Amino acid sequence: MADIEVIKSDTLTEVSEETYNGVSCIRLSFEKSGPRYMDLQLNNSRQKYELAQNLVGEIVKVFAWDPDNEPGKWSSRSWFTDIVPVTIVKGSCTVCGIADDLLTYSDDFGKSWTHYRCKFPV
Ligand SMILES: [Zn+2]
Repeated sequence: MADIEVIKSDTLTEVSEETYNGVSCIRLSFEKSGPRYMDLQLNNSRQKYELAQNLVGEIVKVFAWDPDNEPGKWSSRSWFTDIVPVTIVKGSCTVCGIADDLLTYSDDFGKSWTHYRCKFPV
């Protein structure tokens, strides 16, 4: 899996639930970018929903991920895996200790951060 930055910097305007591609999803709406969706059946989607609601009105970055052998599979179809405020200081990964641009997972609304791939190893 590869984390892909799909929105570099945009204002999150609304978080709602909506049916997309026949499944119940979180829908993120943005000032400039098109909407992004997450399947509500995903394990951590409820946490993401709460996290996103806390970020309405903030400038955010949005990530998706694609399988290594299928670049663009999910990222090109308006799906997302993570949303983070652009202004936050993230420190280093709670699992591997490395600080880089791929810290996209937080259990605690942005107080500490983990790489998506460290949190959910393949
Ligand atoms: Zn890590």
